[in-house]
Amino acid sequence: MSTVLTFRELPYARENLATVLSTTGAIGEDGVVVTDATLFYPHGGGQPGDQGVFITADGRTLAVRDTRKGDNGEVHHLLDPADAREYRLEVGQSVTQQIDWARRHAHMRMHTALHLLSVVVPHGVTGGSIGAERGRLDFDLGEASFDKDELTERLNALIAADYPVTSEWISEAELDARPELVKTMSVTPPRGAGEIRMVRIGDVDYQPCGGTHVNSTAEVGAIQVASIKNRGARNRRFTLTWAETPGGGK
Ligand SMILES: [Zn+2]
Repeated sequence: MSTVLTFRELPYARENLATVLSTTGAIGEDGVVVTDATLFYPHGGGQPGDQGVFITADGRTLAVRDTRKGDNGEVHHLLDPADAREYRLEVGQSVTQQIDWARRHAHMRMHTALHLLSVVVPHGVTGGSIGAERGRLDFDLGEASFDKDELTERLNALIAADYPVTSEWISEAELDARPELVKTMSVTPPRGAGEIRMVRIGDVDYQPCGGTHVNSTAEVGAIQVASIKNRGARNRRFTLTWAETPGGGK
């Protein structure tokens, strides 16, 4: 049975009621819990799996330490082993899902910033990763070179322009007819049911993506290109961090 990906249409929802579909895991292992719907983003596309808690009707709090994609459209919530040992969820039981919002919101901001990075560095993306404190994309640059201060300025201008971030679905055939829309050389866009999820940032970026993003670019906040490093003959790694405010701190 597949899990409804509630976070996709409601990326700002922090709490949700869900029903347990299955629960596995031997004593001493993580408890793996599948629910009918979830707010927890499963690790994928460079974005980490969400953390948070499940709260039962009788007031038990079970920590979810990671979220992964399972087979057949299932989402696997990995419970903290100690919590899974102490309390066994039952199939059909209702749980309140609460995501670690501070962490997820940081991922949404950084994820959106990386889309903008792919705008100011218009080259093929060969890898990437998103964190709450930093994010990175690797590009196949060939002979091109970039100045990090200039890129920082251009990124912050795109952020300040406050472009709306929206999503829509197109058919796989439509995407196959426009291969230029795919910027990632290493990651194939999520497919299934013949539909592809596209993410649009104003009139500056349009690409397939299954991740979570903020509603408009101003919400990203000030960012900086912290480093540009060689990763082989043609590849360069661009790392973004939150901009430091004058006078220190973040
Ligand atoms: Zn994205």
